[in-house]
Amino acid sequence: MIYLDNAATTPLCEAAKRAMAEAMEEYANPSSVHRAGFEVSQALAEHRKTVAKTLGCGGDEVIFTSCGTEADHLAVMGAAAALRRRGKRLVITDSEHPAVEQCAKRLEQEGMAVSRLSTKGGVLDLNEVEAIAREGDLIAASLMHANNETGAVYEVAKANEILRRHNPNALLHCDCVQSYLKLPVSFSRLKADLISVSAHKIHGPKGVGALAVKKGVRIVSQMPGGGQESGMRGGTENTVGIAGFAAAATEGFAAMEQNAKTVGQYKEFLLQELSSHPKIRFNLPQGEASPYVISMQAEGLRSEVLLRMYSAQGVCVSAGSACSAKTGKSPILKAFGLTDPQADRTIRISLSHQNTMEELAEFCRITKALVR
Ligand code: PLP
Repeated sequence: MIYLDNAATTPLCEAAKRAMAEAMEEYANPSSVHRAGFEVSQALAEHRKTVAKTLGCGGDEVIFTSCGTEADHLAVMGAAAALRRRGKRLVITDSEHPAVEQCAKRLEQEGMAVSRLSTKGGVLDLNEVEAIAREGDLIAASLMHANNETGAVYEVAKANEILRRHNPNALLHCDCVQSYLKLPVSFSRLKADLISVSAHKIHGPKGVGALAVKKGVRIVSQMPGGGQESGMRGGTENTVGIAGFAAAATEGFAAMEQNAKTVGQYKEFLLQELSSHPKIRFNLPQGEASPYVISMQAEGLRSEVLLRMYSAQGVCVSAGSACSAKTGKSPILKAFGLTDPQADRTIRISLSHQNTMEELAEFCRITKALVR
């Protein structure tokens, strides 16, 4: 099998497997006051510090969640709930993952005004950001860092700086699920107050994510319960998942630059091999792009047909994102500027450092045989 669907999820790394196997032996509840519980809570505190280090923040700024989606919900709904009385506007991009877009829709139904910034060509228009920022009344913004379907990396720091200048009290969230451990991510780099990440995109387990909340920032918990996670997220912590998350994060953080370099070489190779193909076109962002996600169109082949052809050859890629695979048309590709027929024949190739040049060469060979 050639697995090129790493933006959907990644294989568990060996370090995560080992850490999880070990954590499975320690079954006590970290909130219990007996010795066994205390030991698990100590381990949890260590894992929290470990993940915090990869985000350039303190352990007390990390809230573990069940996934990236939950971290996004907590950020957007929690910020809106905290500041609702101070204003009534939220800003997002028109290319957010459904985890953010659906929160915005819900808030819209509840009377919030939502501005969606254009991401045409994979770039934010900073003049548009400035115009929206000047309208004032903004309580929160949620701008994603790297796009999951096109690989576009948005100028979030610049946009947040502009939004902050005109709306000093607004809370700024950044969905970093696709950029975490691929690009440096921190409050200061992104000029953000809240950062969402997910373990299964970085060779950690499914079912665990985190929201980093800058010290002093107040949001409202969306899952009140037994006071876990500093009262921000009730529910007994997924100790096994968190152990795996911390192990994968440690490994990914140490190798971040090297991995990005390796994956950059894969992308370059793939573009070189396939760009001159008369029926292949790449949807390349006009600004910065992540080497991990490549969006490609094959003339005359609808993506669902091409996906099945690839699958028969043992190749795993996806059409748009795994999420839009179920709901049909991708609003993200439309926002990027593709027509419906172009979006219909777009596939996403998403890479990991665990891929090999041989796999990429084989993928190109198979592609040339299938797209003729
Ligand atoms: N945000 C982005 C940009 C994503 O790509 C994804 C998953 O694909 C999510 C959020 C949701 O993460 P999770 O699958 O951990 O809920």
